[in-house]
Amino acid sequence: MGLRVPVKLIKGLANSKGVVGYYDPSNRIIAIDHEHYNTKEAMHTLMHELAHAWWIRSGLYQTKLSYDTIEIICETIATVMVENFDIKPR
Ligand SMILES: [Zn+2]
Repeated sequence: MGLRVPVKLIKGLANSKGVVGYYDPSNRIIAIDHEHYNTKEAMHTLMHELAHAWWIRSGLYQTKLSYDTIEIICETIATVMVENFDIKPR
């Protein structure tokens, strides 16, 4: 959608925050755990966090959907992207 969203690898992210990745809308970056980088889990997380970035960019957060609903939609988008476009670690 015309906005670059850099991916930042962070050492110890999974250990310190208990997540493989997250989208930071303030800085417009996707953070991925360095140790999980290049894994199937990280590819799925990357697509999930990209869906959050699209969601915010498109203004869909103004729809007032619940957090749980947004998470389900982002998970579904990630699954569709990974499975249909055969996204794999290198
Ligand atoms: Zn999410």
